[in-house]
Amino acid sequence: MASSIQILSSANSSQVECTCKDYGLTTAEFNELHKRSVDAKSTAYCPYSQFRVGAGIMSVDGAYYSGANVENAAYPVGTCAERVAFGKGVTEGHLKFKAVAVATDISPPASPCGMCRQFIREFCDLSIPIIMFDKNDDFIVRRLEELLPLSFGPEALPPPGPRTS
Ligand SMILES: [Zn+2]
Repeated sequence: MASSIQILSSANSSQVECTCKDYGLTTAEFNELHKRSVDAKSTAYCPYSQFRVGAGIMSVDGAYYSGANVENAAYPVGTCAERVAFGKGVTEGHLKFKAVAVATDISPPASPCGMCRQFIREFCDLSIPIIMFDKNDDFIVRRLEELLPLSFGPEALPPPGPRTS
């Protein structure tokens, strides 16, 4: 199964250009997402797992945010890089994002955990790319809907506001 996944190289300009064309990104946006996700790894607080994760996200209006995993002595309390990045962006007033990048120190690339996939779902269209970089800067891209099929999202609920009945 894993052997059938094609891993692309960020050093291969034609693969990067193809990816950008397929997912509606410019190469500058791709490179910025790549850089931010890799750089964010160095800010991880992960004394327990030693597993650094960095995330870079871009809002539809072109704002970038970064995040890293923040662990806790009470293990389940720790937070993933993706949710840290989205928390920053959302609390700065950005509610819609068009791309997500995640970087780790392993190969092949790691993908966002199930909780993060759902978290991302709240603020992104199902077609957005999630770019996963490995320790060699090689990457895999999947659309959110491929990572979270048949998902549940905000449109399934009544509009927020006071209940009238
Ligand atoms: Zn996660």
